[in-house]
Amino acid sequence: MSEKIKNFHQSSIDSTDEFWAEQAKLIHWNSSFEQVLDYSNPPFAKWFVQGKTNLCFNAIDRHLDERSDQAAIVYVSTETNAEESISYKELFQRVNSFSSLLSSCGVSKGDRVLIYMPMIPEAVYAMLACVRIGAVHSVVFGGFASASLAQRVDDCSPKVMVTADAGLRGGRVIPYKGLVDEALTLSTTPPANVILVNRGLVSDIPWTSGRDVDYNQVIGTHEDARVGVEWLESNEPSYILYTSGTTGKPKGIQRDTGGYAVALAASMNHIYDARAGDTIFTTSDIGWVVGHSYIVYAPLIMGMTTVLYEGLPTTPDPGVWWSLVEKYNVNVMFSSPTAIRVLKKQDLKYIEKYDLSDLRHLFLAGEPLDESTHSWISDAIEKPVHDHFWQTETGWPVLTPMPGVESTQIKYGSPSFPAYGYNLKVLRESDASEADDNEKGLVSIVPPLPPGCMSTVWGDDERFVSTYFSAFESTMVYSTFDWGIRDEDGYHFILGRTDDVINVAGHRLGTREIEEAIQVHANVAEVAVVGVQDAVKGQMPVAFVVRKKLSELSEIQQNEIEKKEIMKQVDQSLGAIARPRNVYFVSMLPKTRSGKMLRRSIQAITEGRDPGDLTTLEDLSAIEEIIKVTSK
Ligand code: AMP
Repeated sequence: MSEKIKNFHQSSIDSTDEFWAEQAKLIHWNSSFEQVLDYSNPPFAKWFVQGKTNLCFNAIDRHLDERSDQAAIVYVSTETNAEESISYKELFQRVNSFSSLLSSCGVSKGDRVLIYMPMIPEAVYAMLACVRIGAVHSVVFGGFASASLAQRVDDCSPKVMVTADAGLRGGRVIPYKGLVDEALTLSTTPPANVILVNRGLVSDIPWTSGRDVDYNQVIGTHEDARVGVEWLESNEPSYILYTSGTTGKPKGIQRDTGGYAVALAASMNHIYDARAGDTIFTTSDIGWVVGHSYIVYAPLIMGMTTVLYEGLPTTPDPGVWWSLVEKYNVNVMFSSPTAIRVLKKQDLKYIEKYDLSDLRHLFLAGEPLDESTHSWISDAIEKPVHDHFWQTETGWPVLTPMPGVESTQIKYGSPSFPAYGYNLKVLRESDASEADDNEKGLVSIVPPLPPGCMSTVWGDDERFVSTYFSAFESTMVYSTFDWGIRDEDGYHFILGRTDDVINVAGHRLGTREIEEAIQVHANVAEVAVVGVQDAVKGQMPVAFVVRKKLSELSEIQQNEIEKKEIMKQVDQSLGAIARPRNVYFVSMLPKTRSGKMLRRSIQAITEGRDPGDLTTLEDLSAIEEIIKVTSK
C-alpha cells in the first residue's frame, strides 16, 4: 500500500470528525449539522446530526443554474430501441410531476412507496420523486416473483406501489401487472394505490378500478406542478432495500439521508475518480444497491450524466456496451464479473471496433473476480480495471483501489485496500484477535460504520445488532460474513461467505429461501440447497431432494416431471434468478449426529472436491448417494 493511501485512510480513522466534516462540504445542506457523529448508542451511528438536506435537491435542483441543459440521464433500451437524453431541466420537471402525483395519492413524509419496475426512466423519476417529498422508497428487483414481492410489501406496508405493464429480456415480454396483483392478494398490507406506467407491451392489463392509476393518463395534469423539497434531518430514512441472509426472511436494509449523500459524493472523488460533467455507465439494475448508488444517486449528486441501459450485454451484438462508451463519451464504467465473463466468450473485434479513449476506469463488483477474467478485460480495453468489494449493507465500497487519491498497482484477484472510513480488520474466528498477514480470518469492521452504510434493519433494531454485530462475544464488530486475507503489502483477498448465502451473477440469494420455496412442493420431504461453481455466473444453486413417495412411473420419468415442477415452484416463489441448475433426488441427506446438515460436504462433492471431515456424519451412505447422483 502506498504511503499516500495509507495516510489518507489513517486520517479518516484517527480524525473521523474532521475527515467527514470536510467531505460533507460536497453536498448542499439546508441547515448545517451540529455534530458530525453521535455514537452514544453503539452500534447505531448517527451522522451529521441535526443537519437538514434532501437527496433529490442534491441530485437535481442544485445543478439547475450550471447544468440545466446537460444530460442527466441517457436512456438506451436495446429491447425497445428507445434512446433518449434527459437534461437536468427535464429531469427536474418530470420528477416534480411524479412527486405531485404521489402527493395526490396521499403520500407524504415517512410513507413507504414500493417500486417494482423495469429499467425505464420513470423508475428513476419515481425514486427521486419519493425522496423529494421525504417518502421512503423500496425498490424490488423486477425479476422477483409474487411471493417474494408480497413478503416485501408486508414488511414495509407501502402506501403506494409503482409498476409497469411489463419488463423485457432478450425480446421476451415479462408481464408485471398480473404478478403484482397476485402479490397484493397474498399480502396482508396492500397499498391503497398502484401507479402503472403503460409501455404498451401487453394487450390486456388486469385492472382494479379505484386502486390502479394509469400514469400516462394522469401525469399530464401534474405537468406544471412544482413540489417543494422536504428537508430531512440527516438520519431520517431515504430508502429500504431488501437483501438475503441466512434465514428465509429478507432483511430491509435502511439507509439514512445525509450520510448517504456525503458518502456517495466522496466516493465519486476518491474512488471513481469522476467529476461533474463526466459520464458514467453502470450496467446494473435499479433493483440492486449498485443501481441505487451508482446509476441513480452518486452520478446525479455529482452533476454527471448517467447511462441507464435496458437490455442484454450481447444484443444486438456483443459490442453494444462499448458502442455506448464511444457514442456517449463514457468516462467511468461499472459492471460485474459475470457480465465480463459473458463478453469474454465473444470475439475481441467487438471491443476493438470502438474508440474507448474517453474511458478512464472500469470498476467491477458484486462477486469474486477471477484472475483470468480480470487480466482478459484489462488487456482487451487497455484501461485500468478495478475489482472492488462491497455489500448492500454498506452502500458504497469497503475494499477498493482509490485512483482518485492515487493510482496504485493492481493485483489480480484482490479488491485492494480498505476504503477511508472503514476500520477494517481480518479477525481470527477463534478469539477475534487480528490475523497475521496471509492468515485467513473474518473480514470485520470496527464500528462505527462510516456514513452511507445501513443505519438499521427496517423495523427491527434488534435484528441489526444480532445479525451483524454478534460474531464474537468478546467484542462488538460488524461482520461482513466474508472470509478474507490481507497480504504483506496490505492487499486484501476475499475467500467466500461464512454463511449459507450464495452469489449468482453478483446477486445474493439465501439457500434457506430457495429451500423454503422447494419445500412447498407436495412431494418434497426434505431439501438441501447448496451453491456450486459456475463458469459464467460464479455460483448456481443446486438442490438435493428427499421425496415423500415414489409414484407408479419409472424413477427417471418421475425425476424429470418433479424436477420441472420444483424449478417452476422456485420461479413462482422467488423468480427465475433463483432457479436451481439441477435437482437431484436422494433417499436421505447427509447430517451430523446432532442433525446439522453437512452443506459444505455436499457442496464439495458437487464441485468434484473432497468432502472433508466426515467424522461427525451419522450415515456414510448419504454421502455415497450424493457422490453417485452427481457423478452421473
Ligand atoms: P450484495 O449485498 O448482494 O452486493 O452482496 C455482497 C456480497 O457479495 C459480499 O458479502 C461478498 O460475498 C460478495 N462480493 C461483493 N463484491 C465482491 C468482490 N469484489 N469480490 C468478492 N466477493 C464480492
